[in-house]
Order: sequence, then structure tokens, then C-alpha cells
Amino acid sequence: MGLAETQALEDRYLMRTYKRGPVDFVRGEGVYLYDAEGRQYLDFLAGISVCSLGHCHPAVVAAVTEQTRRLTHVSNLFYTEPMTRLARRLSESSLGGRVFFCNSGTEATEAAIKVARKHAYGRGVRAPEIVSFESEFHGRSYGALAATPKLARNEALGPMLPGFRAVPDNDAEALRAAVGPNTAAVLIEPIQGESGVWPTSDEALLAAREACDAVGALLILDEIQTGIGRTGSLWAYEQTPVRPDVITSAKALGGGMPIGACITGPAAADALEPGDHGSTFAAGPIGTSAALAVLDAVDDPALLRSVRELGTRLRSGLEALPGVAGTRGRGLMVGVALEEGIDAAAVGADLLRRGLVVNVPAAGTLRLLPPLVVEPEQIDRAVALIGESLVEARLGTS
Ligand SMILES: *Cc1c(COP(=O)(O)O)cnc(C)c1O
Repeated sequence: MGLAETQALEDRYLMRTYKRGPVDFVRGEGVYLYDAEGRQYLDFLAGISVCSLGHCHPAVVAAVTEQTRRLTHVSNLFYTEPMTRLARRLSESSLGGRVFFCNSGTEATEAAIKVARKHAYGRGVRAPEIVSFESEFHGRSYGALAATPKLARNEALGPMLPGFRAVPDNDAEALRAAVGPNTAAVLIEPIQGESGVWPTSDEALLAAREACDAVGALLILDEIQTGIGRTGSLWAYEQTPVRPDVITSAKALGGGMPIGACITGPAAADALEPGDHGSTFAAGPIGTSAALAVLDAVDDPALLRSVRELGTRLRSGLEALPGVAGTRGRGLMVGVALEEGIDAAAVGADLLRRGLVVNVPAAGTLRLLPPLVVEPEQIDRAVALIGESLVEARLGTS
């Protein structure tokens, strides 16, 4: 079946929720993807920061294959070992409390919202509110959507879940003013990913921490995109001045297997009790075994240092290119602001034709999320391809 036939089937049978690039990938290895014609692509998106060890990493493939042969699923009505080892590992590497497993980032947000509301209930709060910044993304289920202000304005999907409040991005003063006795949590991304890689300022994070402490609310950091080494530390919050009460994780956690986690510190560890939450697939042996293999590879000071160095190399290469107005981000989470007048969507499409996979999350912006195991030469190659594409795009605009 060729690309045209696949596109025709998609057009007829899938709901129209996605805009896709015109390529039909059939295989991946390391930082490379291959289409049905055998053409090679350098993947600087990694499935939106999911395949952070590259495609089909041997350790992840081995963990999944072995576990699949032994036991795939029993439900949470019984014990299985991999989930307990993974929970210990996630807790000890971060906040020291308990973990709730789920199957996606959105579900990790849902779990965090429940933790926050239940924790607030324990303090006597009966009309709990969750405060976020305006341009954040926390997922698309109704709870997560309510904390994703721009998408929550889609009237046709209403009514939205009540109890959510948004303040302007990085506005520490507005955040302080929005947090009060009814605040259950402040829920923020340490670096906004979907909106185009916008780091949250230290000032805003400190204001959130102080405001939460003043009223007994929880500070929840969404580390779904920033976590698992993406920014050059296992968790992005390690490079900020704050320690959250709860973090959410997903995306790269499973190395390509669907798994999410809501990880608490001691303050929120016992908020959820039997009957409060659950999931049939969650904490299953395949996803948790994959995640253990991922952490074995990523939770390594040498790899994390290399992520920071490669990020610097990538950004300085990009900043030297005509057509690039600037870069944002941390580690290998990089947003590229293009000069005014350059059509980023056209550049993204052109780069795909040139064999480089990137993403265009917002007007005038490219987002680069290469596998953490990318080589310096591959960084240079990507920068060269982006440079060539920008030369053409600028000729087109002049
Ligand atoms: C991707 C993402 C989510 C949602 O995760 P899904 O697995 O798509 O449900 C939530 N928050 C952030 C910051 C994300 O990047």
C-alpha cells in the first residue's frame, strides 16, 4: 500500500482531528526514520519528545520483548513487580512520595487534578480552584482541557469543567493575586512546550511556590514534555529555584510505550485513597518494564551533561543562521523564532522534503526535540538543512 492509498483510507475512516505531514513512516532506528520508499529522515521531533533514546532503542526493545513473552496484563487487582520497581525509582529520583500510573500525559494531568482537589478538600476547601498560565497545555480530556485555557475557549465543546483560572504568562503579580484560600493547586509547565517552547521565568515559579505555601495549595509542575532528561537534568525543575509538590510525566517515560505517571512529594502522597481513582491498563508490566529500561539509560550524569552540551551546540548553530531571530529552551528542547515574514509552516514542510523532521507549534516558530542520543554531526547536519531551507524561504519573501 503506497502513501496515496494510506492517505485515502485515512481520509475516509479516521476522524479529522490531525493535520499530518505527507509521509508514511514504516521503520525507525536511532535518530533516523524511513518511509515506505526507503527514504531516510533525520528525526528532530522524536515523536514529540517520546522516543528520547531514539527509535527502537535495543534496551527498550529487549525489555518490551521479554516482558511481552512472559506476561502482558493482569490489571491492578493484583501485584506485579515492574510497577513497584518503577514507582520506587520515580519517587527516589524526584519528590520522594507516591506514584499513580496511567497511560498518557492527559491522564497524568487528570490524576494530578484529583490529587489537588482531594488535598484541598482535606483542608476544608469546598470550591477548589486550579490556577495556570494562559498559554499552557496540559492535555485534552475535560479536566486537562480546563487547565489549557486557549483550547478551553472552544465553545462548541462546552460546557467546560468549573474551578479553573488562568493568568497571563509569567505574570508573577497576577498569579499571586489569583491564588487564595480556595486554591487547590497552581499547575504550570516549567517550559511551555506546545505553545512554542517558552521557559517559565524563575520569578513566576518562585511566585507560584510562595503563593502556594501561603495558602496550603500544591505546586504541580507538568513535566510531561520537559522531564526524562529532555532539558539536561532528569526533571526540568532541578534547574529551577523551586521544588514542586507534584509532577506529571508521560511522553518519553515509556520510550515509545504509552505510560504516564503522577508523582507526589510527601505532602500529597496520601491524598488519593481506595475508590478515588484507577485505570485498567495503567501500571501494566510492558509499559513499566520499558520505563525502567528508559531510566537506566537516561538517569546517567554523562548522558544528561551531553544533552546540555548538545543543546548549546544546536542553539549556537541555529543562531548563526540568516533567517533565525533567536532560540529558546533548555537542553534539547529548543524553539526557533524565525525572522518576520518567513512562513514557518512552509519551512517545516520543506524540511520534511529535505529529510529533516521538525514541528511547527506556532506561527513563526520551529520546535526541535531530537533524541537525546543524537550525535554532534547529526546536530550540524540538521542545522545545515535548516540553513538551506531558510535561504530559500528568504529568497521567496524578498
Ligand atoms: C503532551 C503533553 C500533555 C498531554 O500528553 P498526552 O500523552 O498527549 O495526553 C500534557 N502536558 C504537556 C506539557 C505535554 O507536552
